[in-house]
Amino acid sequence: MLVDAIERVVISAEDVARRVRELGEQISKDYRDGAKKDPKKRPLLVVGILKGAMPFMADLMRAIDILMEYDFMAVSSYGNGTSPGEVRILKDLDCAIGRRDVLIVEDIVDTGHTLQHILAGLSARGPASLRVCTLLDKPHRREVDVRVDYVGFVLPENLFVVGYGLDYAELYRNLPFVGVLKPEFVRER
Ligand code: 5GP
Repeated sequence: MLVDAIERVVISAEDVARRVRELGEQISKDYRDGAKKDPKKRPLLVVGILKGAMPFMADLMRAIDILMEYDFMAVSSYGNGTSPGEVRILKDLDCAIGRRDVLIVEDIVDTGHTLQHILAGLSARGPASLRVCTLLDKPHRREVDVRVDYVGFVLPENLFVVGYGLDYAELYRNLPFVGVLKPEFVRER
């Protein structure tokens, strides 16, 4: 079974679900307050960053109780030590974001390079606001200063985790929880 590859569950499916509900409530409240001040405002645009954010995005948007649209971007990062911070956009947004409230949804913020690149690109398009929601945060690993507005969980140690969208060599994204692989399932890289 797939879970046999897991050494330790770091965040259970139940804890993920509870935190996603809380984040959805907080986001709904924050943007509902903004909409009250300006009733002509267009609905929130939630932007999921593929591939990792897909399960989180799918659950989070159903916990958001205001009018919203969603779109996706796909990026690849080559942060393998030789060229940290090199980020390429594989799929851009389908829609324009000028004067719109935009919420980026990420699976994990680690060094911050990926997010910094996305933020720079999107803020140049003139959104009304640009915020970030990430399921996981590794603040002690940060190499660039990026603002994250909503955080699901701060990872306590310097762990490499898989599951709930996060992969190892494209695998294990479909685990319903976040966990650490057994060493024998991790190839030398
Ligand atoms: P950055 O270092 O640019 O903040 O993050 C780049 C990417 O590294 C993330 O989007 C994610 O795909 C990957 N990453 C960082 N930490 C982990 C981790 O613990 N597990 C997995 N599966 N991917 C990670």
